[in-house]
Amino acid sequence: MSAKDPLAEYRRKRDFSRTREPRDGGPRPGGEPVFVVQIHDAGTMHFDFRLEVDGTLKSWAVPKGPSADPHDKRLAMPTEDHPMEYREFEGVIAAGEYGAGTVIVWDEGGYRNLSTDRSGREIPFAQALRKGHASFWLDGAKLHGGYALTRFREGDGEGGGGEAWLLVKRDDAAAGRSGAPDPARARSVRSGRTLRQVAAAEGPGP
Ligand code: MN
Repeated sequence: MSAKDPLAEYRRKRDFSRTREPRDGGPRPGGEPVFVVQIHDAGTMHFDFRLEVDGTLKSWAVPKGPSADPHDKRLAMPTEDHPMEYREFEGVIAAGEYGAGTVIVWDEGGYRNLSTDRSGREIPFAQALRKGHASFWLDGAKLHGGYALTRFREGDGEGGGGEAWLLVKRDDAAAGRSGAPDPARARSVRSGRTLRQVAAAEGPGP
């Protein structure tokens, strides 16, 4: 994937005359970096976990969703970088389009880098991800505390195919026994709506 345009793959996969998803998006003004977790009912239900890194949203599809239990190792499959504006996307992707189905914003907030080397010095977040292990603190409405993303399988190099990570809660005061909610009952942190309510309100396609 081109280092010059991190959103090239995102745009290639979508027909913006047929989807309401955002096309563009540059860096966001200032402040701490943000994360968003969307629930995406695209035939296979999954959570999309996204972290702001260098002006785009680094993204993973997490089939079971994030867990507050440090014993749960949640598979996280990398997907293409998404534009910053995508963190506000909630709605229906038209039938026949890439990712067709319904999306809600389940959680969002800021995050802090906790990645350090063996001597305790902070590693820049983008570098930690490149090395395959990044730790971070989430300040969301639902998700709190330390989490780590660890790459356990390298991809074949083309578009990250085959690459796989684990998303695991760190054992801290915010850890608990609860896994992710039932996606069908979960509510948007932005609108309070369920997937079904969003789908009913918007109907298919632009
Ligand atoms: Mn998705």
